Amino acid sequence: MLNFANRHLLQPLAAWKSGSQHLRYLRELRKTQFDSPETIRARQLVALQRVLHHAYDHVRFYRQAWDAADVHPNDVKTLDDLRHFPIVSKADLRTREREFLSSQFDPTKLLVKRTSGSTGVPLTIRIDEAAKQWKYACTLRSDEWSGWRLGQRVAKVWGNPEYRHFGWRGRARNWLLDRAVYLDTLQLTDARIAEFTASLRRHRPGLIFGHAHSLYLVADRLKKQGVTDIRPNGILSTAMPLHDWQRTVIESVFGVKVTDRYGCEEVSLIACECEVHDGLHVNADSVFVEAERGQSGPLLVTDLTNLAMPIIRYRIGDHATLSDRKCTCGRGLPLIESIQGRDADYVVTPAGHLISGISLTENFALLISGTAQVQIIQETHTRLTIRIVPDDAFTSKSRMQITALVRETFGPTVGYDLELVDAIPQEKSGKYRFCISKVAPDHARALTV
Ligand SMILES: [Zn+2]
Repeated sequence: MLNFANRHLLQPLAAWKSGSQHLRYLRELRKTQFDSPETIRARQLVALQRVLHHAYDHVRFYRQAWDAADVHPNDVKTLDDLRHFPIVSKADLRTREREFLSSQFDPTKLLVKRTSGSTGVPLTIRIDEAAKQWKYACTLRSDEWSGWRLGQRVAKVWGNPEYRHFGWRGRARNWLLDRAVYLDTLQLTDARIAEFTASLRRHRPGLIFGHAHSLYLVADRLKKQGVTDIRPNGILSTAMPLHDWQRTVIESVFGVKVTDRYGCEEVSLIACECEVHDGLHVNADSVFVEAERGQSGPLLVTDLTNLAMPIIRYRIGDHATLSDRKCTCGRGLPLIESIQGRDADYVVTPAGHLISGISLTENFALLISGTAQVQIIQETHTRLTIRIVPDDAFTSKSRMQITALVRETFGPTVGYDLELVDAIPQEKSGKYRFCISKVAPDHARALTV
């Protein structure tokens, strides 16, 4: 009953009050996902041409780069023509951030997102309101592929729940509208997992959502305790690779398939599994992706919606394999066979508690000023190596921030060595390990077994 009221009353009311079109977009997207691949590609071409022209006319970075490369939006007659345009790197976005902003938008009215991306490089991204609403609708559509329905409760296994940053308004919104139940992955103890399990029983969420390694860890505990009565409609795994051995345990404990999703803060949702779970469907309504077919190669992504800060041929840092297969679900959205994204181990505190490595990207690395890239290595239970590629803004203040963050996050008995380096290499597979623990038990590590 509450789910029904939330879906049909509270959600539309909140959307109307905020002037958001996302529910209307969602209804449209539910239908157009079954259009033919040709129709979808034709729509992508129109959207791409619009973004290219906007970027050339109003964004300094692109005007300069494309003039220098002797390319022009008028040259793009098919989606494949985009390959003649220059590639944008994370370093470009980080060091020339302002030059990516469109002169047609007031920067103070844009949604600001800060991220350490998939390779530990801190970035600030700005998104216009129309793109935000459209992307939200795209995300809701793929959330529904998991079996969850809008209006049902969500349980989130995530670091530092976002609603807490908005005081009583955040709590009220969460209580009434989002109705999310949280397990904070920065403080993953047996007691917290027990509390979380109790609230899963009480609130019966339709969806459990989280980082692959945290979902696995929770499932592993429940399996050992013989818990078999928690039955969500869907489980969404995101932000890092979901290994087959993790998938098997999660599915056996919760009795439902895991839906693997891939995205990033820079462009939001990129691809997601449907109910067939054989590859990930590209979110072609919002992004255009380029990678090799049949073999793994660097993934380039172009945002088809955000005009305020266009992202075009952006090398995201992960590798992917594109597919020519058509999915048996009937959707015309293209498929990605596999993605080799960032991975991370858990850190073990001296008391034996686990801290999610992937959560440390947003709640540790991003809070240190003057860093071009960060990696955390746990050498022993009480010693870390913090590896940083510094930039000009790295000062004594940054060093103080690190000292305070280590104490706050890992406790007073944990010390660290700071290594300032020129580069942090990616593994040959294209995978980047943000956090490496030499002492975490196997089940808390990003091992492929
Ligand atoms: Zn499908």
